[in-house]
Amino acid sequence: MEELITDRTSAILPVHVYGNICNVEEIQRIADRYGLKVIYDAAHAFGVKRKGKGIASYGDVSCFSFHATKVFNTIEGGAACFHDSNLGRKLYRLKNFGIRNDEVVDGIGANAKMNEFCAAMGLCNLRHIKEKIRERELIVRRYRELLDDIPGIQMNLENKDIESNYSYFPIVVHEKEFGSTRNEVAAALQADNIVPRKYFYPLTNGFECYHGKYDQNETPVALYISKRVLTLPLYPDLPLEEVDRICGIIKECQR
Ligand SMILES: *Cc1c(COP(=O)(O)O)cnc(C)c1O
Repeated sequence: MEELITDRTSAILPVHVYGNICNVEEIQRIADRYGLKVIYDAAHAFGVKRKGKGIASYGDVSCFSFHATKVFNTIEGGAACFHDSNLGRKLYRLKNFGIRNDEVVDGIGANAKMNEFCAAMGLCNLRHIKEKIRERELIVRRYRELLDDIPGIQMNLENKDIESNYSYFPIVVHEKEFGSTRNEVAAALQADNIVPRKYFYPLTNGFECYHGKYDQNETPVALYISKRVLTLPLYPDLPLEEVDRICGIIKECQR
């Protein structure tokens, strides 16, 4: 990160991907040393705590997604959490047509408000979020139990400082040790009507629309993982017997 900072850099935008929390202390240290803002993509991290503190306590701004596919959803929508109340006022005006008060419009804004229907949906879902996260936890524990110790199947490390939201269950399939590739595992699951996701694949910097602009080889770790990652089905109503079936199919791919 530090090597990439130039005199044109103004902020660091780290992603708490899959709800895994970035090295927030080290990132803040770098930001302070170079006078940079830190804006977290916390889309995956709703409800996550680190050492007992809410995850939006870190950085200048944390942006959450409340899209229908996320742990907590309002159908569409999101939230930006911030420390500086001046920045908060600016964000408020940006989302609300630049309106300061009844008679003054002193900024250029947009209509980025959450609509009432989505807000109502969010309030309903918020009542159940703790129990939904608990149900996800039981599913993740079952996956971990069944996929533990399979050569070539890598799972996220558990971190005792982090209270997780169990938002995703990604595995990385190292084909040399496992004997089958990620694509073969995905195809075997699909053949049995199970829909895993190659999430995130392809890499953003490999999208056709950025052709010639970025080089995927400049992010070799992300490139390696994007070709091997598979996020397995995970939602509160997923029966544990289904988890057993999914893990059984994965094990059958072992060579
Ligand atoms: C979902 C997601 C977003 C985008 O969220 P929207 O609510 O669609 O704007 C951004 N970053 C990550 C990592 C996501 O998973």
